This record gives sequence, C-alpha cells and structure tokens, in this order.
Amino acid sequence: MIKNILFICSMLLIMTQCKPKEDSQETVVTERPEYAIVIHGGAGTILPENMTPDLEKQYKDKMNEALDMGEKVLAAGGTAIEAVEKTIHIMEDSPLFNAGKGAVFTNAGRNELDASFMEGENMNAGAIGGVTNVKHPISLARAVMEKSDHVMLSGEGAETFAAEQGLELVEPEYFYTERRWNALQRILSEDENKTELSESDPDKKHGTVGCVALDKNGNIAAGTSTGGMTNKKYGRIGDSPIIGAGTYADNNTCGVSSTGHGEYFIRYTVARDIAALMEFKGMTLEEAGDYVINKRLVEKGGTGGVVALDKNGNIAMPFNTPGMYRGYAKPGERELAIYKVAD
Ligand code: ASP
Repeated sequence: MIKNILFICSMLLIMTQCKPKEDSQETVVTERPEYAIVIHGGAGTILPENMTPDLEKQYKDKMNEALDMGEKVLAAGGTAIEAVEKTIHIMEDSPLFNAGKGAVFTNAGRNELDASFMEGENMNAGAIGGVTNVKHPISLARAVMEKSDHVMLSGEGAETFAAEQGLELVEPEYFYTERRWNALQRILSEDENKTELSESDPDKKHGTVGCVALDKNGNIAAGTSTGGMTNKKYGRIGDSPIIGAGTYADNNTCGVSSTGHGEYFIRYTVARDIAALMEFKGMTLEEAGDYVINKRLVEKGGTGGVVALDKNGNIAMPFNTPGMYRGYAKPGERELAIYKVAD
C-alpha cells in the first residue's frame, strides 16, 4: 500500500516537472543539432537610413563568408575552438568591423586591440588587452588559453608572448583605415572631454566581433575580438577581453560573446549572468539573454547585445540598440540580420 502511494506520488512529481511552461512562447530544442554557430559584428546605432544598399550587402557578404568558414570546420568534425578562431579571422581581416584590420583609434591615435577566448569543456580561458602589432588578436587569446599558465596578458608582455608563439605580427600602421581615423577626428573636434561619438554619428556603433560555436562532440567555445571604443584613453581596456563580461562558455549551460558599452558589461558581468541564470534559476537561454540585455542592462543604462547558444544548439541574439550585425547557422539553416525589425 505504502509502495503504491509512493509510486503515485513520484509519477505526479514527474508529470508536474515535465509540464511545459505555459507563459513561454519560445520553442526550446532539446535535441542537439550536429553543430551550431552564431556570430556578431557589433551593435549600436545601426539604422537603415544610415546605410546604403551596397554597404549593407558588404556586411552581409562578409558575415556569410564568416559563417561559411565556421560551418566548414564544424561539418568536417573540427572543434568549436577551431571554428571560432577561423570565423573570427574573416571578420578581423575585414575593415568593416572594429576588430583587427578595422580597429578604432585611441585618443592618442593608436590602435590597441583586446580579445578573449573560452572553452566550455574545461572552463579554460585566455585573454589579451592593449596589443598593437598582432594581426589576429583572437589567435593570441587562444594561445594564452592553450599555451600559457595565465588567463590574461596585456601590452608589451602579450606582444612578446605573441612573437614567441610565432603568431603573425604586423606594423601598427597595418590597422590604419581612413574611416576610423576620421571618426576619431570627428570626436576630437566636437569636444576634447567627450568619450563617445554623438548618437547621430554613423560610426556610433560597437563594431566588435564575436563568435560562439557548438561542435559535434557537444563542446562549446566562445571568442570576442575588438579595437575597443573610439577615443579611449589611458590604456583603457573594455569588456571584450574580460571573461564573464565579454566572453563566457560552459558546456553545461551556454556560450556567450558580447558587444556594447564595455564599462557596463564589465560591471554587470553580462556574459556570466546569462549562464548563471540558466544554471541557478533554470531559465532557458532566451529568457536569460532577454532578462540580462533587455531588462537589467536597459535599467542600468548599458547599450549593446550578445550572441549566445546553449548546449542543445538553441540560439539567442538579444540586443537593446537599434541594430546589431548578427547571424547563425546550423545544418540546413541560416539567418542573417542587421536591424531591430526583420530585414
Ligand atoms: N565592448 C567593446 C568595448 O567596450 C566595444 C564594442 O563592443 O564595440 O571595448
């Protein structure tokens, strides 16, 4: 008799736990696809009226090229780490994005690059801040993760490590682009003490790049690379190389790459908060991302967004700015978008 009661109780418990949430509209996939990959090329005041059809096409073509690269690696059974690194290289090599070649200028007229990498299988992480001569900062972050005893290196020391690791070095002039130089001149001519471009400035966007991938073995990796913010001073380092703010990956929950006003992303540990809400509160990726970006960050005045994927390949790309360059791919499925409203 007691056994029967216990059996009925446990069945009831299982049934209530399995009951689908009534207040959630999203479809949460619980069967993992063979692979998944998601990228961003920065968030900010990206509006159709500031864009020409040609420029829009250039961004979309480049994002497609980046996703093609990531899919190629993942479909062939490559690791999430390899996919993230190679996908980010495509965007670092393009002057369209504020990372690698297209990095923005500091107040002193230099390009100082930040990047980070994390793998979700073992919580390994690597990051670099303020490097001036490394062609692919994301590869240096990966080298710190895999080949050093440390998590974060900065400035000259990071550059020495890059040389020792045989990474491709360039003259600092390699990062010069007229568009970014002009953006710095605009900000300097407006107000010496200003730290940001004006809202109406077409370059007022956070053009950082990021990528999160899930490979065939169920491993998640995330990476972020940036030139930081135009007119940054005093060796300022943003969120992009801060694990838990700009980048996070944990196979048990999700991987995240951020873009936005770095000071807010650091203070509110944006990337880690999304994973923590899933871990400790049982939220879905979409719920957690939406809460952190569209509620908490908005309340605090922080602008930007993230791209993220969970261990089952669900994708979330929340942002609280008018636009974010973003896209994802899974076998037989791809989506690219720029503005808030579908484009
Ligand atoms: N988050 C970057 C930073 O603050 C900027 C960006 O996302 O574009 O350095």
